Amino acid sequence: MSDEAELRARVKALESLLVERGLIGADTVDQIVEVYESEIGPLLGAKVVARAWVDPGFKERLLSDATAACGELGIGGLQGEQLVAVENTDSVHNVVVCTLCSCYPWPVLGIPPNWYKSPEYRARMVAEPRRVLAEDFGLPLGEDVEIRVQDSSAEMRYFTVPQRPAGTEDWDEERLAGVVTRESMVGVAVL
Ligand code: FE
Repeated sequence: MSDEAELRARVKALESLLVERGLIGADTVDQIVEVYESEIGPLLGAKVVARAWVDPGFKERLLSDATAACGELGIGGLQGEQLVAVENTDSVHNVVVCTLCSCYPWPVLGIPPNWYKSPEYRARMVAEPRRVLAEDFGLPLGEDVEIRVQDSSAEMRYFTVPQRPAGTEDWDEERLAGVVTRESMVGVAVL
């Protein structure tokens, strides 16, 4: 059995035992995963991005030490000790991958989606990022845009600061946070 298959089997066994003994409901684990996937994680990352858009000083601190800057907003903890934020611009597009496994900045993005953990994404994004972005994510980037693939590890957990959408100049921070998606912070989408 591969390490991953063994881990899965063990997790499943633990989950079954907890349910069997009545310690948790059958859908409790699903609910927790769902909350981390769609709510807690990406919503916090969106707050960080929106703050960076409206506050140049914060953006500067975020790009030089993301762990400390996120800490200013009370965001941090498990799997977030070494956060690195990279900025997407007209000329540079960063996209995040973990070629070895699935390292991901949990405090700002939650639990990684399945595609992020897939062997295809991890191998192909490094080998042919321009093509993967265009074909798999519907994000064709011009040849004049340099693509930087940021390979995350346990020591460096990357996320991107997407470009602020045009026409949002008079939006406040909360409204801005509402448009920032998980995909844009991994760099497989723009806003
Ligand atoms: Fe990893």
